[in-house]
Amino acid sequence: MEFRGGFRDECGVFGVADSDDAARLAYLGLYALQHRGQESAGIATLEEGRLSVEREMGHVADVFNEARLARLPGRTAIGHVRYSTAGASLLINAQPIVFATGRGPLALAHNGNLVNAREIRANLEASGALFTATSDSEVILHLVARSKAPTLTLAIAEALLEVRGAYSLVILSREGIFAARDPNGIRPLSLGARDGSPVVASETCAFDLIGARFERDVEPGEIVRLSREGFASHRFAFPQATPCVFEHIYFARPDSTVFGKSVAATREALGVRLAREHPAQADVVVPVPDSGMYAALGYARESGIPFALGMVRNHYVGRTFIEPKQAIRHFGVKVKLNPVREVVAGKRVVLVDDSIVRGTTSKKILRMLRDAGAKEVHVRVSSPPTIASCHYGIDTPTRGELIGANQSVEEIRGFIDADSLGYLSPEGMFEAFGRPAQATCAACFTGVYPVAVPDEECEKEASVSRS
Ligand code: AMP
Repeated sequence: MEFRGGFRDECGVFGVADSDDAARLAYLGLYALQHRGQESAGIATLEEGRLSVEREMGHVADVFNEARLARLPGRTAIGHVRYSTAGASLLINAQPIVFATGRGPLALAHNGNLVNAREIRANLEASGALFTATSDSEVILHLVARSKAPTLTLAIAEALLEVRGAYSLVILSREGIFAARDPNGIRPLSLGARDGSPVVASETCAFDLIGARFERDVEPGEIVRLSREGFASHRFAFPQATPCVFEHIYFARPDSTVFGKSVAATREALGVRLAREHPAQADVVVPVPDSGMYAALGYARESGIPFALGMVRNHYVGRTFIEPKQAIRHFGVKVKLNPVREVVAGKRVVLVDDSIVRGTTSKKILRMLRDAGAKEVHVRVSSPPTIASCHYGIDTPTRGELIGANQSVEEIRGFIDADSLGYLSPEGMFEAFGRPAQATCAACFTGVYPVAVPDEECEKEASVSRS
């Protein structure tokens, strides 16, 4: 079987232990984490040793209804949202993954990507293991199920010491929920409490929605058991924290506190540094909504140039829409974004976005702004050029498709047709993030991978294109 799923997963996870309304809280938690994955959604609950699971392709609001939530009894629940990925848009890859084991039923939800899953899977298959899906996450449950360790905590620890890469995961069991983060802590995972019930989520915005209080992050290299008794901590590996800077630049929600810091505050700080590094003579600072919003605020504040909402995003664009029969110029981008003519016509515009990946979006936005009468457009990007693929769970195209890996800044400026183009420096990015380079994963911007990526993983990257 082709083994492609899981290599590009961006996901969100949630868990609640010992609560009256576990499935409904998981539903709401996933609702707040929808930005982390729009491909599939799933919830698993446990009642008297019996596991129930409901998962489906689609958004949280489409997948779940009253009838479905009623099929999820129990006081403990975990949930998962999964991002659209290359080649693996399959229901079998939807999570939580469930397993019957000698230690009782287990369900797992994983955010991140394992770099040695292929190798482990081959070994397990050679010794007779059967896999149900193509995603990398399943190897973790196999390893837990096979462990001879005396307790479930130690079995999970043993399994996690075998896998390498990025994982923030939740495991549902008869003993409660186990939440764990890889020793590098690349993806976020936070603990909270709601009316005495312990909760865990990829981002704190999920706590806000359900009225839970943030307690602390799961530490890199830590397993925390959530149960009626609260939190029980077990260190399984020495921490070497290198959290992902891209969570703060683009991926996480700005109203979340991630890695102990406000995402909105980091984005503003990125914008402030961007203004210092790349000033512009202009009339208005316009963000690309929503991703450039906070960086543009920072840029405007630092430069003194007025902030203006010169583009509007349609938030109701689904996964598919009926296209017009006759070609409409830039239709794909226009469905999502449209310039506000009043704001940009006759103006020198500083256009702020968080990143340029392939360059195609920027090119189309520039065209639309010029069509709407902008006199000049100066593009400012609140991160350095994206030059390398992520192997730890963010969906990035292969290196060959990354414009920043293949063209100079001047060539990119020409390609997107900007009057000027300025990217934030790596130094400015680390300063705004508040962590030095050696204590950060910024592989997509520097090509330095904090967890070694095997050659075969890189080759596979090159053979899979983004869907
Ligand atoms: P493009 O340069 O056309 O490939 O698209 C760049 C835009 O995509 C930027 O404005 C980002 O906000 C957004 N973006 C960056 N990284 C990702 C990602 N991993 N998944 C989805 N969108 C992204």
